[in-house]
Amino acid sequence: MSNEKVRPETIAAHALRAVDPATGAVVPPLYLSTTHARDERYGFKVPHDYLRSGNLTTQQAEELLTALEKGHGALLFASGMAAITTLFETVPQGAHVAAQDSMYYNTREWLQRLEKKGRITLSLFKAGDLEAMKDAVKGGKTDLVWIETPSNPNWIVTDISQSASIAHAVGAKLAVDATMLGAVAAQPLSLGADFVFHSVTKYLNGHSDVLGGALVAAGPSPRWDEVRYLRTKIGHPMAPFDAWLLMRGIRTLFVRYRQASVNAMSIAKHLSKHPKIERVLYPGLAEHPAHAVAKREMTGGFGGMMSVLIKGDFASAQRFCTLLRTLIPATSLGGVETLAEHRKTVEGPSSPVADNLVRLSIGIEHVDDLIADIEQALNRI
Ligand code: PLP
Repeated sequence: MSNEKVRPETIAAHALRAVDPATGAVVPPLYLSTTHARDERYGFKVPHDYLRSGNLTTQQAEELLTALEKGHGALLFASGMAAITTLFETVPQGAHVAAQDSMYYNTREWLQRLEKKGRITLSLFKAGDLEAMKDAVKGGKTDLVWIETPSNPNWIVTDISQSASIAHAVGAKLAVDATMLGAVAAQPLSLGADFVFHSVTKYLNGHSDVLGGALVAAGPSPRWDEVRYLRTKIGHPMAPFDAWLLMRGIRTLFVRYRQASVNAMSIAKHLSKHPKIERVLYPGLAEHPAHAVAKREMTGGFGGMMSVLIKGDFASAQRFCTLLRTLIPATSLGGVETLAEHRKTVEGPSSPVADNLVRLSIGIEHVDDLIADIEQALNRI
């Protein structure tokens, strides 16, 4: 994009380059080729020889993410978990990782698996508690601090700037799972993080039809080179068509995220006074314990994610999900359609999640239709 001062909304709407310099196409081209011919000097016209190490379409999506997150560079992976596990693979043998206790359960399980195998030592600290984070990090030993904000499924918001100071004070790097921030609510690298992660399956793509993950680095480093090396050697880059769909999704990212935030706030306010609801967990509500941090750092909106504790037990919460007609009882989040999920069913009996918790990923439908559907389901539990 020629004008460097252009705002993120414009960068997203244009997928970085509104016009393809080679053809004038207004929609980014899709290059599917796995291989590129050598030229007369036996070199290449493009930076990629083979799809496992890179691709022009995926590269444009990576440059778009780099611009939105104001980073040094981005890498796209075949899934969010592929990106996360690759970053953890760069932790030196036996080094210490400090991570919050409440987070996406597969990330927690993976870290615990690495600890069990003797790959890393691990401390889990109370999410959002900066004093607990300070106690968990160890000077000269902690290599990586991992936070997820807001965290799934309680939506605890962690102060990114202060987390970066705590990590850097002991020589560690801070990585932020910013899936819920959607690159709209806040940009963690601008707040001091070293790496930002997105499951682009969620808000960034936004249409529930791409599985993918992104890592964005604040600056160049041997570790960032290793991430790229591992993506090529393990062989799990994002496929070009998925990268193309991702760019198509990102073109409407800001309007989708903002509409979801507006809808979510109306629903949270409505349900927080509801006789059949014990509690609403939404960082946009003044009564949410992390509201003050959310207000300070989520300047682009509070997002569409919330959880409700239904008055009742495991069975009542599960039944609520089966009674919905407009909201869809499905896993995942960040899409244009509203999804409801009984989290304990998904995470299993060992999960710390409350039995009566239903997670809602609020979409962009008419909010009155969503509220009417929730009402009829609550009335029939
Ligand atoms: N991080 C968070 C917060 C998530 O919600 C998810 C998926 O639900 C992931 C990571 C993993 O991403 P993916 O499902 O794209 O592998």
